[in-house]
Amino acid sequence: MSDRNDTSRVTLRFEGIRGTVAASGIHTMRYGGNTACVFLRCGPHTVILDAGTGIVPLGWRMAAMGTPIDADIILSHFHMDHTCGMPFFAPLFNPENRFRIWGFGHPEGETTRSILSNHFCPPYEPFTPADFLSHPEFHDFHPHDTFELHPGLMVHTLPLNHPNGACGFRIEYAGRKICYLSDTEHTPGAPDARIINFCKDADIFIYDAMFTDAEFPNFIGWGHSTWQEACRLAQACGAKRTALFHLRPARDDDENDLIDRLAGEAAPGTIVAREGLEIEL
Ligand SMILES: [Zn+2]
Ligand SMILES: [Zn+2]
Repeated sequence: MSDRNDTSRVTLRFEGIRGTVAASGIHTMRYGGNTACVFLRCGPHTVILDAGTGIVPLGWRMAAMGTPIDADIILSHFHMDHTCGMPFFAPLFNPENRFRIWGFGHPEGETTRSILSNHFCPPYEPFTPADFLSHPEFHDFHPHDTFELHPGLMVHTLPLNHPNGACGFRIEYAGRKICYLSDTEHTPGAPDARIINFCKDADIFIYDAMFTDAEFPNFIGWGHSTWQEACRLAQACGAKRTALFHLRPARDDDENDLIDRLAGEAAPGTIVAREGLEIEL
C-alpha cells in the first residue's frame, strides 16, 4: 500500500460495546462483555473513544507491539462504564508513550485531571493518575467545542441528553465522518433534529441502543435510547452505516442476533456492534 493510501486510511475497531456495567459470560461471548471503548486509526493517528473496560485488552495488544504510542483518549463523560478501564490501560505506564486525555462534563471548579484524580486514588485504587509514567496531558472541553487533534483531524462535539451530561463526537478525517453518540435519551415521536443535523451523511453512526422501544417506557430518565430510534435517526441523517452501541448488559447473544437482523431490515447498513469487529471506512 502506498504512503498516500496509508495517510488517508481510516479504520475503527469496537473494543467494548456494553453500557452501564461489564457483562462477561457464556451468554455474551459472541457480542462481547466489555464496556464502552472504540479504537480509531486515522492515517498515522490513533484516537480512543472512551475508556471503559474494553480499553484494558486494547492496552495489552498495543503494549505487545513494542513501539512508542502517541494517542488521544477522548471521554464522552465521566460515568464509570466510560472511565473504569483507564487505570488498567498498560500503555499509560510506559514513559516512552505520549497521551492526551480529553474530558467533558466537569462540575463547576473541576477539571478532567481533578475528576480522574479524585476517582482513581486510594482507597479505591492503590495509585493515582500522577503515577501514570507516560505523564499524559489533560484537556477539558465544553459543549459545542471543536478541536483539532492533528492537522486535518477534527473533533466536533454535541451535548447529549444524559444525567450529569455526556457529549457526542463527529470526528472528521480525510473526508470521512465518524459519529459517536453513546449515552443519550430521545423523546419518543420527536427525532432529535440536532443529532440529525450533526450526523448528516455520517460514514458511520454509532448510537446508544441500550433498550428496545417496548422497554423504553420503564426507563425514562435513565439517559439512554433504543435500537429502533437508532434506525430512525440513521435514516434521517443518511448514515452509510450504523452500529448499535452501549448494549444492555442483560441482552444475550441470541437477543442481539434478533436485533441485528431486525435493525438491518429497518435501516439497511445497521448492525449490532460486536467486540473485536473492525471496520474500514
Ligand atoms: Zn454509559
Ligand atoms: Zn453515562
